[in-house]
Amino acid sequence: MTLPGVKSGAAHAGRICGGRVTPAAPATPAGTGRFFSNDFPAYIVCMKWKHLFGPVPSRRLGVSLGIDLTPQKACTLNCVYCECGKTDRLTLERKEYTPTGEVMEELRAFLSTSPDLDAVTFSGSGEPTLHSGFGEIIAMLKTEFPQYRVVMLTNSTLLHLPEVRAGLMPTDLVVPSLDAVSEEAYRRINRPVRGISSATLLEGLTEFCDVFRGETWLEVFMIHGINDTPEELALFRKVFERLRVSRIQLNALDRPGAVDWVAPIPRENLVAIAQQLGDRVEVVAKPVLRQRCSAFDDNVRDRILSTIRVRPSTLDDLAITLGLHVLDIGKYLDVLIGEGVVEQMKGERGMFYAAASEE
Ligand code: SF4
Repeated sequence: MTLPGVKSGAAHAGRICGGRVTPAAPATPAGTGRFFSNDFPAYIVCMKWKHLFGPVPSRRLGVSLGIDLTPQKACTLNCVYCECGKTDRLTLERKEYTPTGEVMEELRAFLSTSPDLDAVTFSGSGEPTLHSGFGEIIAMLKTEFPQYRVVMLTNSTLLHLPEVRAGLMPTDLVVPSLDAVSEEAYRRINRPVRGISSATLLEGLTEFCDVFRGETWLEVFMIHGINDTPEELALFRKVFERLRVSRIQLNALDRPGAVDWVAPIPRENLVAIAQQLGDRVEVVAKPVLRQRCSAFDDNVRDRILSTIRVRPSTLDDLAITLGLHVLDIGKYLDVLIGEGVVEQMKGERGMFYAAASEE
């Protein structure tokens, strides 16, 4: 990728689909960091994007432009590991959380400049398939910009609905999640809205995978002591034998989630669990290192470091201060933590990020 000045998540550094709620944050100028590049027309420099964020370097998707359809963090789940914190609107209601036409206009404006992207990804805050217009947006992307790979990150809870499955059909890659098979573990990890169970999820997921012709990468978020017990792993193995998916990937927290007791699982433990679950199961790659990602914007990196050198900040503080989407900041923090130049500490308002002493 050769995007000048832009860099590397939605995927959930916790989970991909997860976004954080940043009510006071300014709309993200997509491609911040390229703003002063000669490669982009002037209107891109001036335009504020309400529904797009990034492009960010994602560990699995390359350089990805994010679409946030449910910024109020409307979700069918309230996962304990969600990096967006608590779900504001725990709901099953499908509706136009953001105007479909407005999202399509932003996408047309951005993509008509032929940006160098690996993917256009529905992620952001909340569950994208709750948006009643997501299918229309996917259809527009595949008709008007077929050169871009369209990716949907979903928590799988609405796949039992025929209209949701139909809307997803033109997508190139769907990344559905399944964190537990037993009802008890599912409730403890995902804390679903009334009306959603692991049984309905599995039914919809299986039906979708049977008919979908694009790629499907199943994501499993591992929580120590809940879904990594021998009993739960045995249930996973059974389900994996039946599911028609291209890949099965294990993920775990890099940064704090919605509750304190969810701790990161060491990578070597994840690898051991993957081996127990079968040949098709792999561990999600480590965060993209900036040296390997031309989309990493050193200007954004420096602004983050300058800010937290003066005052340790929460993710939301940084998003507001720097005028970036919270998911953009999160991806940079993943990289900077991985490089050892940023450290985390708990405070009254949540997790704070500070410059490590050697930086
Ligand atoms: S599915 Fe879970 S991780 Fe994703 S946005 Fe909803 S609560 Fe967060």
